[in-house]
Amino acid sequence: MRIGIGYDIHKLVEKRDLILGGVKIPYELGLLGHSDADVLIHAIIDSMLGAVALRDIGFHFPDTDERFKDANSMDLLKETKKLIQKEGYKIGNIDSNIICQKPKLMSYIEEMRANIASVLELELNQISIKAKTNEKMDSIGNGTAIVANAVCLLNKI
Ligand code: ZN
Repeated sequence: MRIGIGYDIHKLVEKRDLILGGVKIPYELGLLGHSDADVLIHAIIDSMLGAVALRDIGFHFPDTDERFKDANSMDLLKETKKLIQKEGYKIGNIDSNIICQKPKLMSYIEEMRANIASVLELELNQISIKAKTNEKMDSIGNGTAIVANAVCLLNKI
């Protein structure tokens, strides 16, 4: 078995869509980034790459590359699955946190899990997503950014 950890943060700004776990969430602000800035998927990708020691998301999908401008992060997730398969591994399970003061994410979590399970061809019970606030402290708590953490366990194919 191998294990990896992932972390990501994106700033909340006006005139951007808020996309988390492949779900477009109605809100007056969205995450800033070169791609769709899906902070949860980016953390999950880094946990998968970390587990096979294949560097990080910025190495494989650089934000200086026009191909990844406004990229759908779910496509990058699919590519990452291929990379770990090539190394001879499959996902055992993924656990993750989204740390976000606003909006409330509870009602979108199941759809995010279903999206991720579908792209990675896993069962729902292999994907866990927990939504937390930051108790109104710091940049997360005052609503200027969203953070995601993920861990991924891999098994040999
Ligand atoms: Zn990111």
